[in-house]
Amino acid sequence: MEETKPMITVIGCGVVGLSSAIMLLEAGYQVRVWAKDLPPHTTSNIAAAVWYPYKVAPELKVAEWGQRSYIIFCELAEQEGTGIKVLPGVELFREPASDPVWASYVRNFRRALPHEITGDYQDGYYFESPVIDTGVYMAYLVQRCKSLGGQIEQRQINSLSEAFQGSDIVINCSGLGARSLIGDKEVYPIRGQVIRVMRDSIKDFFVSADNKGVANYVIPRTNDCILGGTADVENWSLEPDAATAQRILDDCTELVPEVAQANILEHLVGLRPARKAVRLEAEVLPDAGVVIHNYGHGGAGVTISWGCAEQVLSMVKVFSPQQELSLKQGKV
Ligand SMILES: Cc1cc2nc3c(=O)[nH]c(=O)nc-3n(C[C@H](O)[C@H](O)[C@H](O)COP(=O)(O)OP(=O)(O)OC[C@H]3O[C@@H](n4cnc5c(N)ncnc54)[C@H](O)[C@@H]3O)c2cc1C
Repeated sequence: MEETKPMITVIGCGVVGLSSAIMLLEAGYQVRVWAKDLPPHTTSNIAAAVWYPYKVAPELKVAEWGQRSYIIFCELAEQEGTGIKVLPGVELFREPASDPVWASYVRNFRRALPHEITGDYQDGYYFESPVIDTGVYMAYLVQRCKSLGGQIEQRQINSLSEAFQGSDIVINCSGLGARSLIGDKEVYPIRGQVIRVMRDSIKDFFVSADNKGVANYVIPRTNDCILGGTADVENWSLEPDAATAQRILDDCTELVPEVAQANILEHLVGLRPARKAVRLEAEVLPDAGVVIHNYGHGGAGVTISWGCAEQVLSMVKVFSPQQELSLKQGKV
């Protein structure tokens, strides 16, 4: 007799929740996604997004999750309708910088040539990276999830016990929402303000890091180009600030002079769900079931989404029915 796989509830319909849901559906699990906000109204929709580990920890795990995601994004870039392109780009620094841990696996990594180092920058490197137009990509993920039989419902969860109704395993992908949902005060916002402009002639992506670790970036996507940014720790404001927008335009013009002529489409703000380390672990709740936490991805939720989703699937397999849910307190 064919075994029926359990129903799994995924809380959250951002890039982290949808990637986890898809990975589970493709392994044959039944999945429902419950989320307060659905695309296009998630933080994930605000992300630029370029594959680039930023404001996220721990470094070595991130490099591992990032590597799996990099490979999958390069494969998705070959498909129509995903909103992904692999583009060349440079990252510039105000002072000498060593190679990042991920240099060994991204395509064509090399030190920047003198003519690639613009403005007052001192150092840099060139690499190729997937650029993910989140407007297109988030809609693609929703569609892929639904076509695999995933149910997506707009629904606020006020306690984990709600999510366990009719479900033995819950995947908590609530991002910044984990703060109120499970009282994790280690999750905090890092506010990001960006400007969406017409793409015009900009073809490559550019990222720069100042000595406070704040990145400025110019990310050309399928239909537009994103200019950023800011990294305001513990700032909850979702209102774009005019002086900040001007500073972003000035800094991005130093990186790419064509930006000075760019036509502005809109100003956007999102709150990155930051944490001292991504929380990706299983917790057994007596009399309820197993919750696998997958939140706190900071400025790299897109970058590490698939690697984290694969780890969620491995954890779910540990708690599959054949092994009987062992409902003793603990973590794996
Ligand atoms: C300006 C900006 C630029 C960025 N650029 C990049 C980039 O270039 N590359 C990159 O990798 N990352 C980038 N990021 C970071 C990226 O956006 C985040 O890391 C990512 O969106 C986190 O995804 P998530 O699914 O965890 O969170 P979210 O997208 O916030 O999704 C959380 C989900 O949980 C739901 N939820 C929360 N609480 C509850 C509840 N109680 N009940 C039900 N549902 C709940 C929400 O409604 C939502 O559906 C950027 C972010 C910003 C703001």
